[in-house]
Amino acid sequence: MIREEDINGRILYQDDAHKFIWLGADPENKKGVVQTNQFLIIDRGRGILLDPGGIHLFARVVSVASRYINIDNIDTIIFSHQDPDVSSGIALWLGATKARVYIPSLWIRFLPHFGIVDENRIKGIEEEESTLKLGSGAELVFIPTHFLHSAGHYSLYDSGSKTLFSSDIGAAVFERDQYLFVEDFDEHLTIMEPFHKRYMTANIVCRKWVEYVSRFDIDLIAPQHGALFNGETVKRFLQWFETLECGIDNLDQIYSK
Ligand code: FE
Repeated sequence: MIREEDINGRILYQDDAHKFIWLGADPENKKGVVQTNQFLIIDRGRGILLDPGGIHLFARVVSVASRYINIDNIDTIIFSHQDPDVSSGIALWLGATKARVYIPSLWIRFLPHFGIVDENRIKGIEEEESTLKLGSGAELVFIPTHFLHSAGHYSLYDSGSKTLFSSDIGAAVFERDQYLFVEDFDEHLTIMEPFHKRYMTANIVCRKWVEYVSRFDIDLIAPQHGALFNGETVKRFLQWFETLECGIDNLDQIYSK
């Protein structure tokens, strides 16, 4: 069940110059289609979209984003990795905005399969500075997230809102009701753990990522699927992920079928 007030998104952080916004739940979300979250950062009137999603979501995401910013002012779109639920709307977004697109370099050659793409507007993250400095003084830091799950993958830390956009890390697959924040962590594990055990590569990489992100002051963890972690659940999540056995740690189990 999606609450009426969640359809138009929610401002999760705001100060005079900087906002971090969740772009709402999809009332049309069909059973069997993985639910996704889209996020918009607005910094001194400039818009930055994070993983804006697949083709079928384009109209809804444009309409919700337009409640917060003129679409013409979205000048940056960041794709954490190549999956269709992240980036298959790229040709539509390049048509609707003048934005530059950041994506892990490994995936640039695959983008034309999602439609006609102006390569001059595509930036391979590895070829750019690892930090985007914004007008308010906030910084967006690209965080290596390779093999979690994709071979070329970045999450992003927003110092303005102290939010870690974790992409597929922390993803959950809702089976019944959708909710925005994790309240009961143990209950949430039932819809989060199976995804990580199969999609994430191995515990050694999970540990590396947790070690890397621990240098940041994190108030909120916002994954691309499922619910968000704030307060106590931030720490709880990082502790869980650091010790998770997944992927090739369970090779015998995977090949037993
Ligand atoms: Fe993915």
